[in-house]
Amino acid sequence: MNQRILVVEDEVKIANFLKRGLMEESYLVDLAHDGNLGLEKALTGSYDLIVLDIGLPERDGMDVCQVLRSKGRLTPIIFLTARDSVHDKVLGLDLGADDYLTKPFAFEEFLARVRSLLRKAQQQADMRLRIADLVLDSKTRKVERGGLAIDLSTKEFALLQYLMENRGVVLSRMDISEKVWDIHFDTTTNVIDVHINRLRKKIDHDFPVKLIQTVRGAGYTLGEE
Ligand code: CA
Repeated sequence: MNQRILVVEDEVKIANFLKRGLMEESYLVDLAHDGNLGLEKALTGSYDLIVLDIGLPERDGMDVCQVLRSKGRLTPIIFLTARDSVHDKVLGLDLGADDYLTKPFAFEEFLARVRSLLRKAQQQADMRLRIADLVLDSKTRKVERGGLAIDLSTKEFALLQYLMENRGVVLSRMDISEKVWDIHFDTTTNVIDVHINRLRKKIDHDFPVKLIQTVRGAGYTLGEE
């Protein structure tokens, strides 16, 4: 699937030049020529990357970036600027930009930065495990179901991650104790069942579709009933 890029740049010549070059590389490109329109498009559209000029009419690029990040939008952003000051660069990166390019720049360098950011974003997306509406992000260590954040202890998180990585596989109590606790429990203890039940309360209790399944005499598995 072609990746979609938003270019927010008020200098029409530069904007068109970037658009043409990116389209030749098979990216889908939308343009915005001022900060307000750029912000609106970034909030309503689905983009894999945003190229954001800093000096823009209506609302400058730093402000657009700040609003996007404050709304939890993590779309990678490359800042473009005519200013080459360390202060701007540091401020831009502090505001949550992912990269920074000073004008004038060679298109080849721009393209290399675009590719590298898209690759990085893909790698981060790969660190998210999903089943039904349950999402576990192994990088940020956040878990949510149906868009609601779920607070897990370290052990509960490790247990859920193990179950999600092995969805559909029946995991014995011995498998779980080895992988999640790194020890063999005496088979008479119920440590694992206690943790499974806690996890169930948090990720399944309030939802109609239960994901943690007990396989009698064998162990547990994660999957839709
Ligand atoms: Ca400008």
